[in-house]
Amino acid sequence: MFCSHLLKPLWFKPRQARTREQHQCCSFNRGLSLVLRMRAAATRVNVEVHAARTGTVLLPAELIHPTMARVRQALENAGVSGSMEAKLLIDGQELEDSQLLPDFGKGHTAVVQFATEAARLPESVQVEVREAMTGELLHEATLRLGLVSELRASLAQASVGPVGRPDGTDGAPAKEWEMTLLLGEVVLQSDGCLRCGEDGGPAVVHVVWGEAKKTPTPRPASTRSSHCWPSGNTNCITGDSVAMVLIGGKEMPRLMEELRVGDEVLTGSPCPSQRQRRVGRIWRSVVPGGKTEVVQLSSDCRLTSNHPAITGDRWLPAASLGLPVLSPEEFVYGIELEGHVDTILIGGVVCAGLGVYCGPDFGWNVYTRKAIHCEDLSCNKCKIAFDPSIDFNSIKASDLGEMYTPY
Ligand SMILES: [Zn+2]
Ligand SMILES: [Zn+2]
Repeated sequence: MFCSHLLKPLWFKPRQARTREQHQCCSFNRGLSLVLRMRAAATRVNVEVHAARTGTVLLPAELIHPTMARVRQALENAGVSGSMEAKLLIDGQELEDSQLLPDFGKGHTAVVQFATEAARLPESVQVEVREAMTGELLHEATLRLGLVSELRASLAQASVGPVGRPDGTDGAPAKEWEMTLLLGEVVLQSDGCLRCGEDGGPAVVHVVWGEAKKTPTPRPASTRSSHCWPSGNTNCITGDSVAMVLIGGKEMPRLMEELRVGDEVLTGSPCPSQRQRRVGRIWRSVVPGGKTEVVQLSSDCRLTSNHPAITGDRWLPAASLGLPVLSPEEFVYGIELEGHVDTILIGGVVCAGLGVYCGPDFGWNVYTRKAIHCEDLSCNKCKIAFDPSIDFNSIKASDLGEMYTPY
């Protein structure tokens, strides 16, 4: 009999819930519990990076097993310039990139000094939020990084709601409103990012209100999606396509078939904090019969005909951007990146990685899921999108009719 106490992931529980337990039923004794708690303490560390000269907080973060290299990467991801070369000090001492940060114990924060002069926060982004119907100004915000999630937090904090709608004050029951944010005609996803307007003025975001649904229901794919997904390999990049990897801060071309887990690739995102991400998993699929339809979108970008690529602000299947031809291919590749910027730059074209929602023409199909979790163990997106049971090597065209929960 295997006691379920041994299966409890103790280090996932909130601190106050961890109690010293002793069980008659199993060998879950105090000694083991202490070992587990030490692991828990070493797992997640609060880190703050301060600009040494000004004291500005450049980064607050909770990092898992943080080495100095991880801190650097977090700074780079947050768009702090010069992060990869900066001198990082802790207690006045410079640590090697491979060294773990000292453990300051729970509840304490490791403070890292960014000692290079050039420490600069990314430019903040001014945003105006207006009602889509009336153009009425609802909210103005300054976003530190320009992330849509920041904007949503700012709107929630200011309790921005629909104007002139029943909100319970006239006796009607209070309603919860759901807002859809639009930039031009593009729906902003919660992990998207904003830039200032062309003229340097604020970015203008329009909001459309709808009644909040109790449970999100999967939206059926439009009828157009059927011809996006012909038979054979469903969603892939050819081995001779070229990604850009960062080596020592330099961009180098790398064939898809030579790309490895851990490589840092350019995502093609216009947002500086989302410029590159590490490859988390590579799905190499055998091409049945050694031939598949591919579309050449640039000299270094060849995709199976249904693979989504961005033109302007829209995702389109490769086949609607070029002519599909039958091509001899031994393997084709799907890429999962760490985190949630799920695009990859291939031969100058922004292509879908696994885990990206490409709009209603594609729908909430299996490719909106991920088989790897991001590093945030409590991530709300991963709660929905993470499904380690999916084998992306064996997706058939017929599987694409299955729709998943939106996030
Ligand atoms: Zn027990
Ligand atoms: Zn996540």
